[in-house]
Amino acid sequence: MTRIYDEDLTGGMATRAIHAGQRPDPVSGAIMTPLYLTSTYVQESIGVNKGYEYARGKNPTRQALERNVATLEGGTHGFAFSSGMGCLDSIMKLFRAGDHIVCGENVYGGTFRLFDRILRHFGLSFTYVDTDDPQRVADAMTPSTRALLVETPTNPLMRLTDLAAMSDIAKRHQALLIVDNTFATPIFQRPLETGADIVWHSSTKYLNGHSDMIGGIAVTSNEELATRLQFILNAAGAVPGPFDAWLCLRGTKTLAIRMKAHDANGREVAGWLATRLGHERVLYAGLESHPQHALAARQMSGFGGMISIELGTRERVKTMLDRVRLFSLAESLGGVESLISHPASMTHASVEADRRAELGITEGLVRLSVGVEDAADLLGDLEQALHGL
Ligand code: PLP
Repeated sequence: MTRIYDEDLTGGMATRAIHAGQRPDPVSGAIMTPLYLTSTYVQESIGVNKGYEYARGKNPTRQALERNVATLEGGTHGFAFSSGMGCLDSIMKLFRAGDHIVCGENVYGGTFRLFDRILRHFGLSFTYVDTDDPQRVADAMTPSTRALLVETPTNPLMRLTDLAAMSDIAKRHQALLIVDNTFATPIFQRPLETGADIVWHSSTKYLNGHSDMIGGIAVTSNEELATRLQFILNAAGAVPGPFDAWLCLRGTKTLAIRMKAHDANGREVAGWLATRLGHERVLYAGLESHPQHALAARQMSGFGGMISIELGTRERVKTMLDRVRLFSLAESLGGVESLISHPASMTHASVEADRRAELGITEGLVRLSVGVEDAADLLGDLEQALHGL
């Protein structure tokens, strides 16, 4: 019997998530990709090897993950890193002193911190713009702009960026479009198919899905970029260990079913919160009251489990966060368990207070990563936590 492998894998996303990039182990037939715990590979003779020389450059467990996520994103090459930030730092090594980057103003705080506190001192310059409005992005492009970086939906304000419009602007200026797809995942949004050159993730989040590793991954279909990214990956060496790659690969097998469950719970919790607190206080792209709901419905096939709410004051936030029992107060997102956080003092503490205020990351903002528990239990927990507020 001939089994289906990558070269003829044409199925839907759930099928790809389970099978892409993986073959039974050639030694034993083990259906699960083995953990290749090795730093080096024995060579038959000088220059004669099985395609593996040293594990910083390539590791078969890591490669299975890279091929799996590349297939899910509709790309051809994947590059796994030891964290999302390590991944972005390596992507940024594609550029050189004097290059200018246009970046969405409401990106993850750590992205801003990497650019503002480190890469700026290496001669890269950055302009931060509100990417809701393509005209503002076009106005920020200069002759030395080499890349346009966006995150959509954004963390934590759930604002959307029109990826097709960004791709047009980037192409007109011969700049790369680089998209952080951590929140939507390839299950709901496929940036490469809308013209992005590189899509990347904190694989710590939904790709892994079980809050048990830290990782990052970048995908491209551009051969030249792929060659340069592989060179950077090997030369700079921010690679994950095989066990973290293996944990992530185990996570991606259930990505499609998990995202459906996050989406169903996200819609239910957001709808309930909108009734409880008022639509204007709930930020979720799946709500018709979201100012960019039409774009979300066009660009995404689901809205996932990330929701932010505005409670008005830090005191109310503290009361709610002290009361939750099923939601856990913690940084991070995208795991099967529900988390809750206070962006101003947690994920976005590295953004100056004035800047946070300008962006709308207020002291009263709470971010929820809705997990895949029973929706009724989540609503019960939120009801008791919000009682009297
Ligand atoms: N991008 C987004 C949207 C994130 O939320 C995060 C982390 O929270 C990162 C990137 C950074 O990834 P990591 O924490 O894996 O370094």
